[in-house]
Amino acid sequence: MKKLLVILGVICLSLSSAGFADESVSGEHWVCLECGSEADGDFCGVCGKPAGTWNCSACGTENLTGRCRSCGMSREASLDAQAASGDLLTAWPAVCYLAGQGRPDALVSLAHYYELGFFMPKNTAMALSCLQLAANMDYAPAWVKLGRVYDQGELVTRDYYKSMECYQKAADLGSVEALWYLGTFYEDGSTVRRNYEKALEYYRQAAEKGDADSLMSIAYCYAEGRGVERNPDLAMEYYEKAAEAGSSLACDYLGYLYLSGEGPSKDVEKGLSWYRKAAGLGNSRSMAALGYMYQYGIDVDPDPAEAARWYEQAALAGRADALETFTSLDAGKAE
Ligand SMILES: [Zn+2]
Ligand SMILES: [Zn+2]
Repeated sequence: MKKLLVILGVICLSLSSAGFADESVSGEHWVCLECGSEADGDFCGVCGKPAGTWNCSACGTENLTGRCRSCGMSREASLDAQAASGDLLTAWPAVCYLAGQGRPDALVSLAHYYELGFFMPKNTAMALSCLQLAANMDYAPAWVKLGRVYDQGELVTRDYYKSMECYQKAADLGSVEALWYLGTFYEDGSTVRRNYEKALEYYRQAAEKGDADSLMSIAYCYAEGRGVERNPDLAMEYYEKAAEAGSSLACDYLGYLYLSGEGPSKDVEKGLSWYRKAAGLGNSRSMAALGYMYQYGIDVDPDPAEAARWYEQAALAGRADALETFTSLDAGKAE
């Protein structure tokens, strides 16, 4: 029954070089799959469930054996789904369990909890150690994440060269995201000597594998004549490819182009449809732009309710200016 993981044990063993060995726990410890607490008896001291209890992520049934007695899902499949749920609260016990088993994807997730200080005290050293551990298992997303960590300089001192090294490792392991990041270094030219041709090479490699950001970057290169001869038609073609590949930025930009008539001739229907598509992909700028159009009746009939609806969405997606407008619109309505 207690062949559950010993999360801190495994992680601390692996991280002993980082000075966490003293915290490691005996084999009696286990992680409660119900609440994510560490426990050491037959029952979890926090939620009271017996060791090995797990909640089926498909149907919600509580189980004690390896397979859900209601729907037949295996515990492993359930834990995978739970860890990948994207919800920090829901995923926590599964992430703990899988990280304790040394799963690199779970270690990257665990790093995120340490980074945020969610469920435990913020610990940037542990966050980094988890990422490094996963990276050492040749897990490309961990190298990408490390690249961003060094690029942003929030967990560590900013180090662009180290960041590039991490992206290169990820790219060698097949990450298309990393190829795009490498391209941006050569396009930007503040860390390495600017080289638009080389940037385009990286973008094209990633674009061949369907990377939407890279398609967007190639479009921009054609629009601006970076590393290639300026070609507005090809630029449009690539913006559309990027939009079709799911880039909300590309959809938003196409919406802007068709509504402003810069580039292609003005086409309100097309512009609105690209803005709506971008909004559907979570682009808050498009949401706010739609709000503005309906508020002031630009290219559409004014519609205060529709305007408020878009501003509200944009605010919920994190746009401060949209929140301000939404609040004032709503206040105006109440008066
Ligand atoms: Zn518990
Ligand atoms: Zn089930």
